[in-house]
Amino acid sequence: EKTSVTLLGLGAMGTALARTWLAAGHPLTVWNRTPARAAALAAEGARVADSAAEAVAANTLIVVCLLDDTSVEEVLAGTDLADKDVVNLTTSTPAQARARAEWARRRGARYLDGGIMAVPPMIGVPEAGGYVFYSGSRELFEQHQETLAVPVGTTYVGEDTGFAALHDVALLSAMYGMFAGAAHAFALIRKEDIDPASLAPLLADWLVAMAPAVLRTADHLRSGDYTKGVVSNLAMQVAGTPTFLSTAEEQGVSPQLLSPYFELMRRRLAAGSGEEDLTGVIDLLVH
Ligand code: NDP
Repeated sequence: EKTSVTLLGLGAMGTALARTWLAAGHPLTVWNRTPARAAALAAEGARVADSAAEAVAANTLIVVCLLDDTSVEEVLAGTDLADKDVVNLTTSTPAQARARAEWARRRGARYLDGGIMAVPPMIGVPEAGGYVFYSGSRELFEQHQETLAVPVGTTYVGEDTGFAALHDVALLSAMYGMFAGAAHAFALIRKEDIDPASLAPLLADWLVAMAPAVLRTADHLRSGDYTKGVVSNLAMQVAGTPTFLSTAEEQGVSPQLLSPYFELMRRRLAAGSGEEDLTGVIDLLVH
């Protein structure tokens, strides 16, 4: 007997999740503010509820995938959450997740928060490598893991309800730093007779080759010794920064994405950390 699921929210992500549960034979009740978005799923076997309250009443496991935390409050406020297992996959901040968990608890529900590390085309495609971070009650996670693993992988990151959102935002923040660097690289070749398509695979391979550096960073942070195993020290790297800034100027490219990072490197060096690599920048960011 497959666990019955209620899903609130049929946006791009909710619809993708819904399809996988239907395909796997889980009885599914859905609700969406704009009812038209449920029509295709009804044809695929979903039960369509007329209201969020009716959808919540239908099952114990309530998966929520709405736009933001405000919409979650709006939608759940009109439902009876007593004895429900609420799994909230809506992107939020750690503080919002913790507050929403407390809010749900006061209404008699158990609560698990999720952060989705996938885009809709990766849902239901295990080879794509997507997954969802979960945090909150471990017991609740374990009870529903099999059902939650149907659309996409599951990674439990702790009892603190805010940790799924924190991991989600941490990974995406690093991604934006990577995209910023790639944007600068493409800008540098813009005015030259260099095909972006010839730079792109070199760039992708280089980023992949450099990525494991984060493992040494973690080692530094754990030991407190930021000089361990350093290959390219900070003094050398800061000495190289004028080359990057001058090249940007030569190519008519704004240094605005690179400069703030270089500024932190210079400050760390000025504080006497020339034998470290880049780990010390983290100390300057945290206040
Ligand atoms: P969409 O914009 O496609 O869908 C938003 C959903 O929220 C719709 O069902 C919409 O209903 C509903 N909604 C918005 N405001 C309200 C409200 N006030 N009351 C009731 N329902 C409301 O977003 P996605 O499906 O793509 O994303 C859903 C969640 O998943 C978000 O938190 C997003 O950050 C997260 N996510 C999405 C990813 C993606 O690539 N798409 C990747 C990772 C996470 P209606 O149809 O009536 O407008």
